[in-house]
Amino acid sequence: MSRVYNFSAGPAILPEEVLKEAADEMLDYKGSGMSVMEMSHRSKWFQGIIDDAEADLRELIGIPDDYVVLFLQGGASMQFANIPLNFALPGSGVADYLVTGQWSKKAFQEAGRLITANKVASGEDDNFTHLPDCSDLALTPDAEYVYICENETVHGLKFHTLPDVGDRTLISDMSSCFLSEPIDAGKYGMFYAGAQKNVGPAGVVIAVIAKDLLPEGDIAGVPVMCQYKTQADKGSLYNTPPCYGIYICGKVFKWLKAQGGLGAMKERNEEKAALLYDAIDRSDLFKGTVVKEDRSLMNVPFVTGDPDLDAKFVKESAAAGLTNLKGHRSVGGLRASIYNAMPKEGVEALVDFMERFELANK
Ligand SMILES: *Cc1c(COP(=O)(O)O)cnc(C)c1O
Repeated sequence: MSRVYNFSAGPAILPEEVLKEAADEMLDYKGSGMSVMEMSHRSKWFQGIIDDAEADLRELIGIPDDYVVLFLQGGASMQFANIPLNFALPGSGVADYLVTGQWSKKAFQEAGRLITANKVASGEDDNFTHLPDCSDLALTPDAEYVYICENETVHGLKFHTLPDVGDRTLISDMSSCFLSEPIDAGKYGMFYAGAQKNVGPAGVVIAVIAKDLLPEGDIAGVPVMCQYKTQADKGSLYNTPPCYGIYICGKVFKWLKAQGGLGAMKERNEEKAALLYDAIDRSDLFKGTVVKEDRSLMNVPFVTGDPDLDAKFVKESAAAGLTNLKGHRSVGGLRASIYNAMPKEGVEALVDFMERFELANK
């Protein structure tokens, strides 16, 4: 067996300990005589798995009791529609969006199909190389919420401080930075993440929502499955949940606790990101694409400036066991995603390879 250092943006690297544990339990989960993939979501075993997952997540983040934790499907992309459908009246509702990269742009566009979505800040004119000035946002008086993507996976931007939205409801897509650092849950009306970036396999979305935001009754015209209240009322078991994915997420939560929790992860992630950004800043060949103050700790885009050389880098790094370093198809260049599960040794191996590549391609 040989494992690579996988720098994929998602689905992405998972902790090896978690994969091994899952392998050990594959044929017989704790004496059940079956795999988690084979068991009823109404069984006592699965109820234990989802209850543990929720409890561990609540403990890791410190989620207040007046928030629900949901395990959903449809990807983060489904939430782009569900958020306006649940929190702003379909048709007449209004919400404000900060467009800071590909993912918030997609969320904004989807919301615009369903409600009045106002773009109150945008970094698009500068190709999303820095966050727009959010010091004095012109929020819409009757906007139901303000939406951000806290870490832009494609462009490699991160809100290191949250924009000031006053007493508005803040909704955050945390897909690619979820659990990479402590989260102050009380600052948000809702935050959510597609699991396949930093938490688990594809197929699960984790959403944390303030209970008082959930509409009380049925929302006319909105499919039952798109109403958060449906799953909130049923402990995410209204229908068959993504059982195996939730099981793996639960193991990752336990792994994170064993690592020392989110504060410890933040320290480690800062250390890993500094290693890589310092190497980029030292280099005469590689250049970062994002201004320093807005750089993501998770997704690190960089370029040589020569597409052929970028392609050569992707090919040779893969041959050296460093995979998925190609930039997103929309921006080109290179990108290293260094999520929680990427060990420091992986980043060191990448930096070492970059230095050798630079020497060889002077
Ligand atoms: C990957 C990603 C998405 C889309 O996730 P899907 O699960 O593919 O729908 C949305 N937002 C962010 C920040 C992402 O990184």
